[in-house]
Amino acid sequence: MIKYKTFNLLESFETNTYLVWDTDSKEAIIIDPAAPSDNLAEQISAMDLKIVHIFNTHGHGDHIGGNEYFHRLYNCPIGIHPYDADMLLNAALNLSDFMYTPIISPAANYLLRDRDSIYLGEIRGEVFHTPGHTKGGIVIYFAPYLFSGDTLFNLDVGRTDLPGGDFNQLANSIKEKIFSLPDETIVLPGHGPASTVGKEKQENPYVK
Ligand SMILES: [Zn+2]
Ligand SMILES: [Zn+2]
Repeated sequence: MIKYKTFNLLESFETNTYLVWDTDSKEAIIIDPAAPSDNLAEQISAMDLKIVHIFNTHGHGDHIGGNEYFHRLYNCPIGIHPYDADMLLNAALNLSDFMYTPIISPAANYLLRDRDSIYLGEIRGEVFHTPGHTKGGIVIYFAPYLFSGDTLFNLDVGRTDLPGGDFNQLANSIKEKIFSLPDETIVLPGHGPASTVGKEKQENPYVK
């Protein structure tokens, strides 16, 4: 059974970092570690979880700032879409140059592409490429949960005025890849509160 917990590791950006695990195997992933966090590491130890991957939904600085810390701590591979992989290594590209302390992550250990399968124990999840906020944006689906990064928020969508952004592409990504999932899918975004696919289909003013 899949469970998750939300952490806010970067107060100024309120990025949602998600710890996601399989209760049988205790295998876990960290999605978008926003910053180093001893508290998160302690909770991982207390729950006896084994971190098997770090996934970045995209390459912006507020979603990758903890990559180095957790990568070193757990010696676990980092996965990101190929179009955003260079952002890990370049503070100008990941925009942290302009936001706060420049952030450099270790390089990606492997690349995540559209429809790739990922596993926690025996539970299969799936990656969808959802460009529009950045070129390499992805969402991660472990039914009934969808970790939607900065592609889709509760009644809002990711901004498209940054480098690589494109509103029409973002709207298409959401309609084709996310709105095709069951209505009861729980949407867990990169910022702000959770939603459901059904609610967003009905009420999201940007992609109705
Ligand atoms: Zn972003
Ligand atoms: Zn963000």
